[in-house]
Amino acid sequence: MSLLTERDQVVEELRRADKLLLTTHENPDGDALGSLLGMRLILEQLGKDVVMFMSADEFPLPYEYRRMDLGHVETVPPADLVERVVVFLDCGNIDRMPVDFVRGSQVHVLNVDHHHDNTRFGTVNLVEPGASCTAEIVYGLAKELGAEITPTIADALYIGLVTDTGKFMFENTTPSAHLMAAELIECGVEPQRIHQMLYEGLPSSRLALLGRALAAVRRYDGGTITLTHLTRDDFIDAQADASDSEGIVDHMRQVEGTVVAALVRELLDREGARKVSLRATDRQVDVSAIARGLGGGGHRQAAGFTTELPFEAVVERVRSEVDAQLASRADVAAVD
Ligand code: 5GP
Ligand code: MN
Repeated sequence: MSLLTERDQVVEELRRADKLLLTTHENPDGDALGSLLGMRLILEQLGKDVVMFMSADEFPLPYEYRRMDLGHVETVPPADLVERVVVFLDCGNIDRMPVDFVRGSQVHVLNVDHHHDNTRFGTVNLVEPGASCTAEIVYGLAKELGAEITPTIADALYIGLVTDTGKFMFENTTPSAHLMAAELIECGVEPQRIHQMLYEGLPSSRLALLGRALAAVRRYDGGTITLTHLTRDDFIDAQADASDSEGIVDHMRQVEGTVVAALVRELLDREGARKVSLRATDRQVDVSAIARGLGGGGHRQAAGFTTELPFEAVVERVRSEVDAQLASRADVAAVD
């Protein structure tokens, strides 16, 4: 029996591997891209042959990440795939990888992630739900591997940290998240420059789409649920693309009395399908459980799923699930 922890195994395999392929989940966010780029730079510094892979559908990237210098990204799995150690970053579920090159193949997968509902689809799974972001796990691996945190690596990891913690405001903003930020700043990160890159200079279609979302807000069950809806026509009229809806759900969670915030948006590239983003304002409701029940997943306070259910059916489903969770909590409280 091996006494190595999965963390030790991942470190050992990264140390030994000569050729790797790094990838992440569909619709990559800041943590996905920051972890991917950070890991690439770390492993290249250690002299390894590293390729990054993402589906061609992900390009162009959401506007905020276009100014990240990712370098070359393969959009077709390379011919020498089976010779490479494949590292999935920030991907809780293999269904979030649009190109299926893992299932049924001989590929050796290291699954590095912080989603508590990770399905452990890898050959080795380094899943740390206590990490604020996958970039924090990558940062720890870099230290164990003896890599120097250059300013470029620091920038990449900081992008993962700042986006996944909601600029250090969500419940995953731990002391170690702040310590990591401090260390990365010492390594050369300029927080204001990163903020400007991610959150300023955005196209005005963002505001146009936000305006439509704010105009469509509905509140349910005494305001427990604050929800909005964006149709394909909203996107077309605002001249917006899917990535312009990023962050809109956070406006829903700001309203007094909200326990669960939701954005339901029609998908531009899949008629009849809707993407639902859920946020919980505190620990009363686990939105990842709701998302899992509908084929998605995520974190307790931030989760999502894609569905073919009509809008009103989505609303009813979310309402009944939230109601059931709140009722079961009330039962527990009554017993206490
Ligand atoms: P967002 O609502 O911003 O798209 O995603 C919020 C969180 O939910 C992210 O942590 C993301 O990993 C997770 N998430 C969103 N959509 C899906 C999905 O379709 N499947 C799974 N497994 N997780 C999702
Ligand atoms: Mn993440």
